Amino acid sequence: MSQVIYRSRIARAITNILEKIEKAANRSDRNLEDITLIAVTKSHPISAILEILKFEIFDLGENRVPELTTKQESVPDERIRWHMIGHLQSRKVPAVLGSTQLIHSIDSLKLAKRLSNKAVEAGMREQVLLQINASRESTKGGFIVPDMDEDLYSALNLPGLKVAGLMTMAPLTEDGIVMRNTFKSVRELQQKLIDSGLLAGKVLSMGMSNDFEIAIEEGSTMVRLGTALFGRPV
Ligand SMILES: *Cc1c(COP(=O)(O)O)cnc(C)c1O
Repeated sequence: MSQVIYRSRIARAITNILEKIEKAANRSDRNLEDITLIAVTKSHPISAILEILKFEIFDLGENRVPELTTKQESVPDERIRWHMIGHLQSRKVPAVLGSTQLIHSIDSLKLAKRLSNKAVEAGMREQVLLQINASRESTKGGFIVPDMDEDLYSALNLPGLKVAGLMTMAPLTEDGIVMRNTFKSVRELQQKLIDSGLLAGKVLSMGMSNDFEIAIEEGSTMVRLGTALFGRPV
């Protein structure tokens, strides 16, 4: 799709989205500065990235390592903060190490350990979020609480990781109450971990195109929007 089409699409969508974010923040007595909009550019071309940058949105989300790497090479703009938001395969860890602002999708202790080991070898700490499978769906990755508490606590203590907070996805549903309860449970889990000194990170990555307002009302600090900004992925 051409850059001109992306320009008009984004221009049409952005005001509306920013207004919704602001209203949701106001409704829940939160500061707008505490909420980051991540533009999910997965499956959209470079032209979409070039256009979104013109709107001064520099947090970009991708869900596959090869596509992430290609786009990083194609748009070497230092203002961009890249976010890896999709399932990360263990064998792709070396390719992504140190190349993003934040990996949102650490969904198992095995992956956490592998990433930590590679980071330690490289003499660095990787900034990550631990993904919580709050809806306990078998098709979803992520730590399930309380069944996997031990794994979660271990992942919080790995030397190569800096855990900035938690991430979750609501189940596929139209039911606002189910969405809200999912987000609320993860916010409460984060608070519990902070209160017990197990976690310092305050980031809560939750909310996509169809549920970001509810996510903000329930404490989200990062919303990940694809469709709402760019239209359906191609
Ligand atoms: C694709 C994706 C998004 C964006 O979803 P939209 O519904 O298009 O806004 C957010 N988070 C993750 C993890 C994704 O894979």
